[in-house]
Amino acid sequence: AASFAGKRVSLFGLGGSGIATARALIAGGADVLAWDDNPDSVAKAAASGIATGDLRGADWAKFSAFVLSPGVPLTHPKPHWTVELARGSGVEIIGDIELFCRERMLDAPAAPFIAITGTNGKSTTTALTAHILKAAGRDTQMGGNIGRAVMTLDPPEPNRHYVVECSSYQIDLAPSINPTAGILLNLTPDHLDRHGTMQHYASIKERLVAGSETAIIGIDDSWCAQIAERLERAGRHVIRISKRLPLTDGYFAEGGNLMEAVHGRYSRVAFLEGIGSLRGQHNAQNALAAVAACLKVGLDLGEIQSGLESFPGLAHRMEQVGRKGHVLFVNDSKATNADAAAPALSSFPRIYWIAGGLPKEGGIEPLRGFFPRIAKAYLIGEAAPAFSATLGEAVPYEISGTLAAAVEHAAHDAAQDDTSEVAVLLSPACASFDQFKNFEVRGEAFRQAANAIEGVKPIGG
Ligand code: ADP
Repeated sequence: AASFAGKRVSLFGLGGSGIATARALIAGGADVLAWDDNPDSVAKAAASGIATGDLRGADWAKFSAFVLSPGVPLTHPKPHWTVELARGSGVEIIGDIELFCRERMLDAPAAPFIAITGTNGKSTTTALTAHILKAAGRDTQMGGNIGRAVMTLDPPEPNRHYVVECSSYQIDLAPSINPTAGILLNLTPDHLDRHGTMQHYASIKERLVAGSETAIIGIDDSWCAQIAERLERAGRHVIRISKRLPLTDGYFAEGGNLMEAVHGRYSRVAFLEGIGSLRGQHNAQNALAAVAACLKVGLDLGEIQSGLESFPGLAHRMEQVGRKGHVLFVNDSKATNADAAAPALSSFPRIYWIAGGLPKEGGIEPLRGFFPRIAKAYLIGEAAPAFSATLGEAVPYEISGTLAAAVEHAAHDAAQDDTSEVAVLLSPACASFDQFKNFEVRGEAFRQAANAIEGVKPIGG
C-alpha cells in the first residue's frame, strides 16, 4: 500500500483485517503506530513486527491518516475514544476499503471493481458475482466483509476483477469509494443500534452507489427507489433491478426468467428455473444484481447463464444438503431471527419446519403469513414453549427438544406426505447459543443428522 509511503499512520483495531492492513501499509513504506483495547491483540501484532503504542499518548499532529477497523463505533452509541482523538486533531479517518480504493487508483484504475452492499443478500450476491466471473475465466479476487480482508487480496492489475462486499461500517470509512459497478440490493431497518436513524443508515449505503461509475439498485423498497431517482436526477448512470415489477428500463424477474427492459421492450437475459442454489424471490434480486454487474464488465449471456447454473450457493443459507425421493433437506441455520427465516419459508410450498433455539424479541409472530405452508413444526431449544404458543391451533407441532430428534421425526413425517416435493427445513428464527457454539455448528449438525437418515443422498458439502 504505497498511498502512504513515507507518512505516519495511526491504526486502531488489531483483528485479522487490522493486522493485514497494518502489514500492507508497512510494506508500502508507511510508518505505522497500531493499538487495540485488547492487550492480547496488541501482543499478537507486536510479535508480528508491527509497532504498537497506546494512541492516547501519541502526537496526533504527525499522523497523515487514522485507519480504523470497521467493528469500532464511529458514531453510535458513541464515538470510540480514538475517534474523538482523531477528530480533535483533524486527521482523516479511513478504513481498509478506502486504502484499497486508493491503491487501485494508483496502480490500476482500470481494474474492474464491483462493490456490493444492502441490508440482506450481500454475501450471496458477492459470492455469486465472483463465481460467474471466475467460471468465465476472469482473474477474480473476492473479499471485504466476506472471506479475505481487502488488503490481503492480490494487488490491482488492469485485468484483475475485484468483487468486494461492503458493510455500512466499511462504507462509512471509505470516503472515496468509486467502484466500476456499485450494487445496492435493498434497505430495511437493521443495525440502527450502530447508525442511529434509518435516514443516516440509508445515506451511508447511498454513498457506495453515488460513487459508482454504474449504480445497480434494487428498487423494491422505497428507500432504494428514492436513491435511484436522486442519483439519476444528478446525472449518474443508474440500472434499476426489481424482483417483482416489470420495469421500463432495467432488469426484472418474471417467473424464473431474468428479463432486460429497454424503453419498455423486453428480452430474456437468463433464467433461474431448476437452479436449486438460487431458489426464492430474494435470490432473484441477488441474481439480477450479479447479472447486471457481469454484463457491465463485458461478460456474454452464455457465460453468465453457465455461471448461474454452476453456483454452489453459500453454506447455511437455504443450502440444500440432501434428498430422499420427494423430500429435500434444507439448511438455513443462518436465519437467526424471524425476518431472516421469511425468505426460506416463502421459497418452499410444503414444509416440515425445524425452529427454535435462543429466542429473539418478537418471536415468530411476523411469520404467521407462512403458517399455511407448514405441514408440521418441530420445536427445539429454549424458544419451544413461546413458539408453540404462537403456533397454537394454526399449525401442528411437537416439542422435539434436540435438533437430532427434530430431524428424525420430520424426516419420518415428510416421507409419508404425498405432495410432489416437500422440504425438511431448518430455519430456526433463533440464535443457536443455547445448544450450539454458533449457527455454523448448528447447520453442520443438521447436515449430519439429515445425511445419517437411511436413503438420503447428500448434496454438496
Ligand atoms: P448478508 O451478507 O447481507 O447478511 P446473505 O447473502 O448472507 O446476506 O443472506 C443472509 C440471509 O438473508 C439469507 O439466508 C436469506 O434468508 C436472506 N436474504 C438473502 N438475500 C436476500 C435479499 N436479496 N433480500 C432479502 N433477504 C435476503
